[in-house]
Amino acid sequence: MDSLAAIVADIAAEMAAAPDRGAVADYIPPLATVPLSHFGMAVVEADGTCHVAGDADQTFSIQSISKVFALTLALGAVGDQLWRRVGREPSGSAFNSIVQLETERGVPRNPFINAGAIVVSDMLLAGYAPREAIGEILRFVRALANDDAIFIDEAVALAEAGSGFRNIALANYIRAFGNLHHPVERTLGVYFHQCALAMTCRQLAHAGRYLMAGGINPATGRSVVSAQRARRINAVMMTCGHYDGSGEFAYRVGLPGKSGVGGGILAIAPGKASIAVWSPGLNARGNSQLGTLALERLVQRTGWSVFDPD
Ligand code: GLN
Repeated sequence: MDSLAAIVADIAAEMAAAPDRGAVADYIPPLATVPLSHFGMAVVEADGTCHVAGDADQTFSIQSISKVFALTLALGAVGDQLWRRVGREPSGSAFNSIVQLETERGVPRNPFINAGAIVVSDMLLAGYAPREAIGEILRFVRALANDDAIFIDEAVALAEAGSGFRNIALANYIRAFGNLHHPVERTLGVYFHQCALAMTCRQLAHAGRYLMAGGINPATGRSVVSAQRARRINAVMMTCGHYDGSGEFAYRVGLPGKSGVGGGILAIAPGKASIAVWSPGLNARGNSQLGTLALERLVQRTGWSVFDPD
């Protein structure tokens, strides 16, 4: 196998020249103006070696990738009771779909679609003012990445609050079934702010290391979650992390992954690497077009798919 450094550099060069780059999310105004030309990639190996290429040090809006960190925090706060209020089955529906909520009585299919993440935000709000809950999330992500430069882009959070009619509808509908415990505006305030976390590929790949390493943050040697919980979060990422494109992502890449409409993807090769890619153009399912392609090529050249024999 070529060296990982060479593989990462090759992929970035291929992506720079790729003609079909998808389309940026235009329903959140600040995301609509991000140039399609961007591509960044960071791969942190188990021993901490980090390989980067392209725009790996440029911040982008992590959007729904934050749902992984929020789920981790909420599981720590409420434990496995969380699963009484949110399911863990793939939805087969778009990330912002409302259809299943009616027949399933306000219990979202999984924590990685918007409806499920809104319920998780509601859990994180218990006992806190919104500002404190948002501060907890930010502190947690900074600690995971060991980088206090990570911030929340207030302009993105504000823009989402102004254009988030679907999320407002989802939250009200869930509340009607009694599965939101706080006023809709407060819960959505937490949700929009976590989605507005701004991070680089390098920071994101570092933040994901606990999922590669059996729940331990290798930077500190401290346990973030138990090994069992890390394995289970990875399982939900594999089955639900790309919405109605999760089957396709498993087929092409074969790694637990979580995408966001900012064009980022966090992917975990358990025991091997934590990987972040970013390219703002999305495919029809709202997942990064070139991010997915880059991960597909990485896995082909490293044999890192969880379905590859070791
Ligand atoms: N903040 C976005 C929304 O709620 C997140 C969606 C996503 O990244 N898929 O619409």
